[in-house]
Amino acid sequence: MNPKNRIFFIGFIVLSFLGTILTFIFNRDAPPVSALEIPQSTIDFFKKLSDLGHIKIKLVDSLEVDDYDNEKDYADDFKKLEDENFIIFYRDAGQELERAQKTLEYANEAINPLADFFGKYYYAKEAKNRKLPIYLTVSQADFNKVAVNIGGSTVEWAAGLTFNSFSTVGETICNGIILNFMVQDGESTDLKKVVFHEMAHYNHFQCMDLTRTEKKYMDWEVEGIASYFAKDWNKRIPDDKNISNYSIMESPKNYLDSYWIGYHVFSAFEVNYNSNNFHKLIKESYTKSIIDAIPSVSGVSVDSFEKIWRSHCNRQKGQLSASKK
Ligand SMILES: [Zn+2]
Repeated sequence: MNPKNRIFFIGFIVLSFLGTILTFIFNRDAPPVSALEIPQSTIDFFKKLSDLGHIKIKLVDSLEVDDYDNEKDYADDFKKLEDENFIIFYRDAGQELERAQKTLEYANEAINPLADFFGKYYYAKEAKNRKLPIYLTVSQADFNKVAVNIGGSTVEWAAGLTFNSFSTVGETICNGIILNFMVQDGESTDLKKVVFHEMAHYNHFQCMDLTRTEKKYMDWEVEGIASYFAKDWNKRIPDDKNISNYSIMESPKNYLDSYWIGYHVFSAFEVNYNSNNFHKLIKESYTKSIIDAIPSVSGVSVDSFEKIWRSHCNRQKGQLSASKK
């Protein structure tokens, strides 16, 4: 080996050695690609919501590129109306095109208020250029068919359903929002309010920190947030309800009670502790139980807040039934 080759040879050995050392040093601290620790309590809560509620959640090992591809969305023989953020799937019948145009308008209208309310709006397009699909169904049978095709099951009655999938490595997508046939402009199940309610579920589930280990979720938290954001009819407290029989520290026996209970928790909180603190409460609830977030933001115990909530509910109940007469 002549001296020139020897220098190259030694240089090669030294560089290879350095490369091995550097690779070792830099890889040492890289986290292993493995499943997030999603606590069993969270998995159980999602399962319960899927069984009972109006949100369907699938936990999957991983999401594939195809899962984000709108070409792979369930399309049946729907027509499509779309822009950069949404695809509205609608039937070629009656006034459905007009309903689709309004749905697209309301969905876009919800974006800024959702960003204010939750601290951020998660554009579906941020993940692999997806558009958020919204299905307009024209009968209960149609609703059931779409729900089964997208999420594997339907519910007995719902104005709207939101389907989310989470992977154990932290990706999440919304498979679609389905609106039932009676969801129409100006009806008691008002189109704009249902779009706002379902989009609140979509965005809320994007905000949640799934790895949080603290305590349980409350049924009323999920429906309360969506109803309070949409300012929908769920605030109505049925006349026969005795508020002293309910506690915000436990989930109600009847899931339907979680709508008004939650609506008035958030309403009472905002009225008593101002809007800034209300938004703080929403943000804290992503990483801790709402039952812990209430005292940490308001400075009062959950027991004291529950008294505030009870009198707030009783006042609302009086006002709501007085205005009905
Ligand atoms: Zn809901």
